[in-house]
Amino acid sequence: VATFDTYEAALARAAAHARAWLESVGERPVRPERTAADLLAGFGGTLPEGPSDPATVVDRLASNAEGGLMAMGSGRFFGWVVGGTLPAALGADWLVSAWDQNTGLRTATPALAAAEEAAGAWLVDLFGLPARTGVGFVTGATMAHFVGLATGRDTVLARAGWDVAERGLVGAPPITVLVGAERHDTVDLALRFLGLGRPVEVAADDEGRLNPDALARTLAAVDPGAPILCCLQAGNLHSGAFDPFGPSIDLAHERGAWVHVDGAFGLWAAATPSLRHLTVGVERADSWSSDAHKTLNVPYDCGIALVADPLAMRASMGIHADYLIEDPASGDPQERVPELSRRARGVPVWAALASLGRSGVAELVDGLHARAVSIAEGIAAVPGATVMNVVVYTQVCVAFEDDERTRAITEALMSEGVVWMSGSRWHGRDVLRVSVSNWATTAEDVEASVVAVARAAAAH
Ligand SMILES: *Cc1c(COP(=O)(O)O)cnc(C)c1O
Repeated sequence: VATFDTYEAALARAAAHARAWLESVGERPVRPERTAADLLAGFGGTLPEGPSDPATVVDRLASNAEGGLMAMGSGRFFGWVVGGTLPAALGADWLVSAWDQNTGLRTATPALAAAEEAAGAWLVDLFGLPARTGVGFVTGATMAHFVGLATGRDTVLARAGWDVAERGLVGAPPITVLVGAERHDTVDLALRFLGLGRPVEVAADDEGRLNPDALARTLAAVDPGAPILCCLQAGNLHSGAFDPFGPSIDLAHERGAWVHVDGAFGLWAAATPSLRHLTVGVERADSWSSDAHKTLNVPYDCGIALVADPLAMRASMGIHADYLIEDPASGDPQERVPELSRRARGVPVWAALASLGRSGVAELVDGLHARAVSIAEGIAAVPGATVMNVVVYTQVCVAFEDDERTRAITEALMSEGVVWMSGSRWHGRDVLRVSVSNWATTAEDVEASVVAVARAAAAH
């Protein structure tokens, strides 16, 4: 029988394991020490024939995971673009699980729908977007691209006299999709899901910013009247650079294009006066993607889909069925995301923003940028190291004299475990990538990380 007692012991054990992890995450080696294949022995074997005590299962989960967790919450984790976890967001995330509300419908789960609507309005304010912008909380920026580009696809085809919902894509007027040469691969993925195929690349400059002259030339070659989607980027994975939004959006709109902006981690520059210059004009786009699980530091997972025309968003995403209790005036959460049943992912966002306030968000983003600049300055002084990008935001890309040395240093750093910086390739060279995305990174972490790079470089 499910009484409170049956939860109590499992929750107490989970809280104890969570505390032990959070207390130690900054001291642990950043890299995992065991492989998934190795860990599977603990988790796997044959399916248990019968039940086990819930608290014991929680204990077993924690002990099976030991050695197999990456210390992504460490202040010295700089891999990909990941982020950390703010205390208020983690607490809220636990409550979302305990409350277990399927937050698809406004009338069914009013408290969480309201918290998400408040969070959405705060985000629109912080990003400086049009007040009516529709906000959906999805799993990540990939699905946020999907939402923005699905709405864009449906809208540009409707303007061309084609109703995708009724007729599908077969036989539709072909859509030309333009992307910057250095867009994130997830844009291509969302386009694939949407049946739009491979996009046309527009040339980018040395920092990876789309070149508006090249965009003008590419647009000039598109047939008059053809439906167009144009994808821009706020925050290049390697350089952190931002596309020139004003001129690019104007050019695209002159041709009736729908403009979508991938702002997975970069849209947050708009939330601080000191970096807002990077996003000037971005508010004139038609849709935007961002992540809360990266720069805002809420626990995984939470992406943010934003569409300037909320009715177009609802038309593309919503389902309408007799058994649902819909709220036609305000729109339901399910009408702004691909899912019907859904976790209230926006609630940890509400908690994060409530705990930081406007000034706290600005300080968070400024702090990430400041520490990225410090790391770049520190590494630039390491013999043989070249910082390849202008550190306008949170990303630093470093190359040593040749690819072999860069790879050797990257591998040495990762196996030592003091820091985690992922390797990549950029502009034809192997690079060491540093992404400062965690609120927990301190000046001491920066110093220890630069020392670790110097140590690895001295040994290779
Ligand atoms: C991380 C990232 C994405 C993908 O986001 P997910 O949350 O992993 O789906 C897209 N674009 C950029 C620039 C990113 O950094």
